[in-house]
Order: sequence, then structure tokens, then C-alpha cells
Amino acid sequence: MIAYDEDIRTTEDRHTSGAYSKRPLTLVRGEGVRVWDDADNEYIDATSGQGVALLGHAHPQITAAISAQSGALITCPEIFYNDRRAELYRLLASVMPDGMDRFFLCNSGAEAMEGALKAARLLTERRGVVAAVRGFHGRTLGALALTWNKKYRQPFAGWTAEDVAHVAYNDLDAARAVIGAETAAVVVEAVQGEGGVHPADVDYLRGLRQICDETGALLIVDEVQTGFGRTGRWFAFEHADIIPDIVALGKGIAGGVPMGAVAWRSALGALPRGSHGSTFGGNPLACAAASATIETLAAEDLPAHSAELGAWAREEINRRDWSAVREVRGLGLMIGIELRGRVTPILQGLQARGVLALPAGLNVLRLLPPLIISRDELLAVIDAIGDTLHDNA
Ligand code: PLP
Repeated sequence: MIAYDEDIRTTEDRHTSGAYSKRPLTLVRGEGVRVWDDADNEYIDATSGQGVALLGHAHPQITAAISAQSGALITCPEIFYNDRRAELYRLLASVMPDGMDRFFLCNSGAEAMEGALKAARLLTERRGVVAAVRGFHGRTLGALALTWNKKYRQPFAGWTAEDVAHVAYNDLDAARAVIGAETAAVVVEAVQGEGGVHPADVDYLRGLRQICDETGALLIVDEVQTGFGRTGRWFAFEHADIIPDIVALGKGIAGGVPMGAVAWRSALGALPRGSHGSTFGGNPLACAAASATIETLAAEDLPAHSAELGAWAREEINRRDWSAVREVRGLGLMIGIELRGRVTPILQGLQARGVLALPAGLNVLRLLPPLIISRDELLAVIDAIGDTLHDNA
């Protein structure tokens, strides 16, 4: 390694895109629910790196899977078959509802949403999309529009952001008013994450399922943030006892290795050959990490742990009756604390107390701890929030 005569933050600030607002903290190591900075200060990580590290950091099973696979085969595009990929397909199918066992593997949540949208267009031959106010689904823009070969572009030609109608969340009448014979897909988060940690009403999700059945639109549930036990079930749509047509997956699917996936009901059919693709999609390294993640989540019954601990935490926060708190929301270990004031000073105060947490908008404190967190560790997070709110009163 070349030795540079300047500190890490100076280098990053000079070269970074500028697109991120960064916290003045340099993280260099993690273990379990804890991370350490470059001065060896310890933090409880209630961010999981934005909801990714479901099994915490440096989990021995994930580390072993990545290490073994990196010595066997890292890259193997889907033009070939691969043992690790086949293993992951079997495992994904085992945690999905019966019949939801077609998958497109990719590398991020936004790509999973792109894949879900393309699948919906191809499978319905319609173009309209209905999404929700406050929804968040990713940030990609237009790579396909730049691609010259008509073979790739033509099936999706003419599709623009104008084809998307945004309607109020948890409002079935608003949804019913816009979903019709031209609607290819209705896209919804079962708990809105970035939008402020708002769980969908059970009746809302059931109603969307029914409207989609009546109109032939496909129901896409974005489980990028909520999937793999985060909300106390394997997938958040299970709380409403519905089966979507298409599910988008990402974040924690591979225990921290970048990965996304689209899952859909095989009754809808397979995608036409050549209609979609990704260089890294389904690479054996990510597949091995994802299989280890799913196996560990199941072996340690972490979705159930998430349900129990999350319910306890919300009750505990409510019990403390902090005057700075307007409302506590969430499902499982996806917790939103809506404050009466701005969240930024609270996040800063928490960091000074050794706890890292996330915002969701300007006044919601969002906790997405690893699902392996213990009650005592979560209690330490709640105590730190109480102390910080007290200091900022
Ligand atoms: N969908 C949801 C619900 C998300 O929360 C996010 C990211 O926060 C995305 C999609 C986009 O995922 P990525 O940042 O991996 O592209």
C-alpha cells in the first residue's frame, strides 16, 4: 500500500462525489452489533449500515462463506450454471410463499426495483404504474435509454416517469381510483422506511391485493428494507397474509455483500430470453453469502427474535413517555420515533454517547439494529436516546 501523508477524511472529502452528507466519523472495524472508529472508540450500530447487517458485523458464518467462496470462484455470469447459485435459489424458494420461486438476481435494491418494473411490463404488456406518496424505491436513471441495441430497448420503449401515478399511502379509495386496465403494477412498501417508518394497514395491503386481482395489475411489494426478518416475519407482506405477484429484495439479503433480487410467482411465467441481464447478477460470492445469511437467520430464529424484541422496545419507549416524542411506530426491529423537533441534534448526541442511529426525514429517528441485538444492548440504545433527548430539551 502507498503511504499517504494526509488523514482519511481529508482524502475522502477531496475525492468523493459530493453526493453524500457525511458524519465526521471514520469506521474501520465491526463485530456483532458494535463498530469501532479509527481512534478505537466503540459504538452500538443501530443503523446496520442502513439496514444491511442483519447478522451484525463479521458474523463467523458469513465470513467463512465469503472466505471459502473467494478461494473457489468469485465470478460466474448467468450464461453458465453454478453450484452456489442453485443452492441460493433453493433457499430463497424455501422462505418465499409457495409458488413464488422465479428469481432475477442483481446487485442492489434499486436494480431489484428496475427488474421488478421490467418484469411487470413484460408479463402484463401494460405500462401504467401506481406508487405511493412518501415511497422510496431507489435512484437509478435511464441506463437502458442510452443502450443502442433496439433488442434491449424496444420491449420497454416509451416508458417514462409520466407513467407513474403517486397516490396517498394507506388510502384504498385513492388507489382504487387510479388502478385500471392500463395498470401494469402497483408498487408498495409494506412499511415505508425512508418515508418515516409508516407500516401499511393490514386492510390496505389486502385491499390492494384484491384490486390487483380484479384489474389484472401486478402487486409489487418492495421488501428491500423490510425483508429477511427485519419486521418480525421473513417478509413484511406476511403480516397481512397476502401473496404479492412480485417482490423486490436487497440490503441484508447477503449479509453485507452487495446483492438484490426480484422474486415472482412462477404462474406468471419466465421472462423472455435476453429481456434483462446483469454482469454481476447471481455471482457465486454474493450467492454464498446470501445462502449463509438465510441459513443463519433460520437456524437462530431471528425473525421471531426481531418480532419479540421490537414489540418490547416500542412498549419500553412508550412507557418512558418522553415529551419530545410525538409517536413511536414500526414492526419488529424497524423502529421509528417521531420527534416534535429535528432529528439531527439527537443523532449527533447519540453518536457522542456511543450509539449510531438513522434519520427517516427531518424529524423521525430510525432504528435498524442488527437482528442479533440483545435486550440489554437495545436497552442501552433506549437509555442513550432518553439521555440525549433530556440534554436537548
Ligand atoms: N427500496 C427501498 C424500500 C429502500 O429502502 C431502498 C434503499 O434505501 C431501495 C429500494 C434502494 O436500494 P439501494 O440503495 O440498494 O439501491
